[in-house]
Amino acid sequence: KEQTYPFKKIEAKWQKYWRKIELFKMDPQSSRPKYYCLMMFPYPSSALHVGHGRNYIIGDVVARFIMMKGYNVLTPMGWDAFGLPAENAAIKDGVHPKISTLRNITQMKKQLNCWGTGYDWDRELSSCLPDYYKWTQWIFLKLYEKGLAFKKKAAVNWCPSCQTILANEQVIEGRCWRCDKQVTEKVLEQWFFKITAYAQRLLDDLTKLKEWPQRVRIMQQNWIGRSVGVRIDFPIVGEKEVLSCFTTRVDTIFGATYM
Ligand SMILES: [Zn+2]
Repeated sequence: KEQTYPFKKIEAKWQKYWRKIELFKMDPQSSRPKYYCLMMFPYPSSALHVGHGRNYIIGDVVARFIMMKGYNVLTPMGWDAFGLPAENAAIKDGVHPKISTLRNITQMKKQLNCWGTGYDWDRELSSCLPDYYKWTQWIFLKLYEKGLAFKKKAAVNWCPSCQTILANEQVIEGRCWRCDKQVTEKVLEQWFFKITAYAQRLLDDLTKLKEWPQRVRIMQQNWIGRSVGVRIDFPIVGEKEVLSCFTTRVDTIFGATYM
């Protein structure tokens, strides 16, 4: 008779044991070297699928490997429970997002535990619950007090059908990713963070991340988008106005023969 791996028996046994000895509970008093293994928090928009398996099992392998090397490993888990994925799931199910989101969290947590992936569940968080978002609100207030959060008018992607602003990634060939209606441009007053105030510091600190792949560092540099150059005013013959230009290569300015 063919022998198959009796996973229900073996895995349940060891998962119970890991829970009993609190294998994944991080001990803050430990003198062992620390290691923080953070995996992206899933959107609780449905049940876990095989794509989640790929992501969270890889993270679990890393955490266990480091743990077996003697480190005091912290692996937190939480739920990225705000935004359009949760809203879409609620619309699809025809229930209030609070009900569907919390129900999905229960389901997904059960699945993660079935997989045997190890987390310090004492530190579980859900971004839709006040004990978490009170801190994002607190951070926002601090930014506001320092003049780093401000309001101004800006053009946004607007879906007239969903009555919502869309991120660039949510506009697919000029259409709303949710309802497929034509997206329009609308000028709205909205909040901004003055991240430009930190551009130089971010760039300087990027050079300290020696282990990061160069590809990722260049991506970050481009995202920060700071460039050094000069502003040049070109006079217009017979006009009082000037044309202001910015160049990163002022040494090539003599090559500008017309505009
Ligand atoms: Zn739409």
